[in-house]
Amino acid sequence: MSLAHLLLRQARQQPEREAIYHGTALHATAGQWAARSAALAQHLQEAGLQPGERVLLFMRNHPRYLEILWAAWWAGLVVVPVNAKLHRREVEWIIQNAGARWGFVTADVAPQPLAGLARQIDIESAAADDLLSPLSDAWAVPITARAPQDLAWLFYTSGTTGRPKGVMLTQRNLMTMGLTYFVDVDAVQPEDAMVYGAPMSHGAGLYALPHLMAGARHVVPASGAVDPAELFELGRALGPLSTFAAPTIVKRLVDHAEASDLTAQDCAASFKTIVYGGAPMYLADMQRALRVMGPRFVQIYGQGETPMVATALSRRHLADSTHPRYLERMASVGLAQTPVRVRVSDERDLDLPVGEVGEVLVQGDSVMAGYWDNPQASAAALRDGWLYTGDVGCLDADGFLTLKDRSKDLIISGGSNIYPREVEEALLSAPGVAEVAVVGSPDPEWGEVVVAFVVAQRNATLATGELDLHCLAQIARFKRPKRYVLLDELPKNNYGKVLKTELRQRLRDEAVLSGDLGTDGGTAAK
Ligand code: AMP
Repeated sequence: MSLAHLLLRQARQQPEREAIYHGTALHATAGQWAARSAALAQHLQEAGLQPGERVLLFMRNHPRYLEILWAAWWAGLVVVPVNAKLHRREVEWIIQNAGARWGFVTADVAPQPLAGLARQIDIESAAADDLLSPLSDAWAVPITARAPQDLAWLFYTSGTTGRPKGVMLTQRNLMTMGLTYFVDVDAVQPEDAMVYGAPMSHGAGLYALPHLMAGARHVVPASGAVDPAELFELGRALGPLSTFAAPTIVKRLVDHAEASDLTAQDCAASFKTIVYGGAPMYLADMQRALRVMGPRFVQIYGQGETPMVATALSRRHLADSTHPRYLERMASVGLAQTPVRVRVSDERDLDLPVGEVGEVLVQGDSVMAGYWDNPQASAAALRDGWLYTGDVGCLDADGFLTLKDRSKDLIISGGSNIYPREVEEALLSAPGVAEVAVVGSPDPEWGEVVVAFVVAQRNATLATGELDLHCLAQIARFKRPKRYVLLDELPKNNYGKVLKTELRQRLRDEAVLSGDLGTDGGTAAK
């Protein structure tokens, strides 16, 4: 069995069925998709690429992304989908580390040849057209057999600390992830469609699997980016659509709906399901999203090392407002997804009782095989069959997991643990606050002190004294930020995650410049 069989199965069953759209234009039927992927697979094999070799994808979202993924799997190869925002030198490091020989790119992302590739193909070139031209007996190209433990997807972590690590995901990992979608996230009908707003190199692209399994359609926005107006429009034309969105994208969709006076019913016409995850969703933001867009949200928690599959908070739980712990549940990341076990342990690897905070561990068929060519990192992350996620959280009596933070984001001030998320939740409920990121800053007296980076809502003016009073009313005194820094926007990566390392670096740079950690560098301080 190979992931490529999923495509062949759909193509055989209904070759004429619409499968991939570019904007509202039909890009490929199921039969065309399979024929093009099979043709490219044959070229890859004829070029001497052997099963298990790596093929790089470095491009903006594009309908050919799907054709190339499946071509690679058809030929038994491993895909290395790379974040389109990476610097060229970072990509070249990945090419070398992964030993990728062929690379597929879009010219906007990779205008120059990348060092280390034997062949670089601009997917919008005539050469790509040739490679993807269906052969007369296209489906006769045999699919290279793969075992469940064979690699399918080599995903490089964002590498906020040190070099990125190549997460080895197997055929079994991806098959499990795809099937789990139907149990824990959403039922999918053939008339449904997935729209790829978020980068296809990450979780959003992985959701092509369950949608192909169900014979549903795939829509790649013409802009190749996240544009809320375009997504709503596509939904009206082809939808209702399902999509994966990081919390920052959810926020932009909700802003758009509000600014355009769209009712929840209008939103239902554009979106069937919005799966959110990948970063913390704050309670106030989810309450607003549900109010404005209606009950079309499902949360997932996962990481590259167990893609999209650790826990899920279902549509039903998000709608069950009469439940006595409704708000706690909404602030949680939900229950363990069906194929995994999730536990919370202390430093000695002992299970912690309900409500106590420790590291989140995950075990099951979605968990990676290890890090590519990095036995040390693999041994640290995978122990006794469990994945050590580096996330910190606690379970309640019903099994709902609440994440506190990444362990490396934890702030220790005067010997007390402070979870930035708790402070962020408190500040987000203050009037006029749009976004917040809380980090620890080194401090000679306290070890670390809490610093809040705050973005005001449009036309709002924030007074730090008022923010402080707001925190005093919500959280313990010692958790209050010692300093506020007002920003126009928070630094984020391509997947919408706030880059706390950049914020910490900024504080360190300021400290070096001023020689004094307490000075304010022109920002609003208490
Ligand atoms: P990545 O491997 O880049 O997908 O990042 C995974 C990390 O994002 C996890 O380890 C969590 O720290 C965070 N994350 C993922 N999903 C959620 C979620 N639903 N809520 C809060 N944080 C999340």
